[in-house]
Amino acid sequence: MKIFIIEDDLAIGRALLSVLQDEGHSVVWVRLAMNAIQKIQTENFDAVLLDLGLPDGDGTTLLRELRSLGLRLPVLIMTARESLEDRLNGFNIGADDYLIKPFEIPELLARLRAIVRRGNFSIDGAESIWNFGEIMLDEGRMLVTRAGQPVTLSKTEFALLLNLIKQSDRVLTRAELESRVLPHSEGQTLDVHIFNLRKKIGERVIRTVRGVGYMVQRDNA
Ligand code: CA
Repeated sequence: MKIFIIEDDLAIGRALLSVLQDEGHSVVWVRLAMNAIQKIQTENFDAVLLDLGLPDGDGTTLLRELRSLGLRLPVLIMTARESLEDRLNGFNIGADDYLIKPFEIPELLARLRAIVRRGNFSIDGAESIWNFGEIMLDEGRMLVTRAGQPVTLSKTEFALLLNLIKQSDRVLTRAELESRVLPHSEGQTLDVHIFNLRKKIGERVIRTVRGVGYMVQRDNA
């Protein structure tokens, strides 16, 4: 994912930067509200981590402006303001979630994943775009990218990946996958397709569950 951090506190900013980069995300960190909107408009971020008390302005003003421009990317507010009123205010102006400082990094990561996942619902409520680490699958457009670069998959490979992603965190048995994706084949064909798919999307996305089948795990992403 590509994440934008707006946070003036050096210790928090540095910690977030290093943890998110370690997780394989690309991160842009700024310490001022100035130019933040412009950056969001020109760069393709997947999520924003927003501090409210900034030296040159208030994060809520920034968030309000961002939403009024029609920018829908998920925003997670990080703030020390604990009152319920502030929280409700944050949601009212278009925050996707709220985290009270001080917070634990694992909690931030979990919430970040959750808001990005929720953000992947299309307007009619049907999930059509999935993100797994550096992989993005767009069902409607039959498009897969890896780290932003298009990946060319065969029809079968696409169908396999889509089936696994749609039922992530659940093992799909070989029989299930074969009947859905390869109804007329037999023998080792499934493994060959998985092998080819992994060469294109990376080894880590699809897990082999020995003797049973395959699965995609959200938390591995
Ligand atoms: Ca601050």
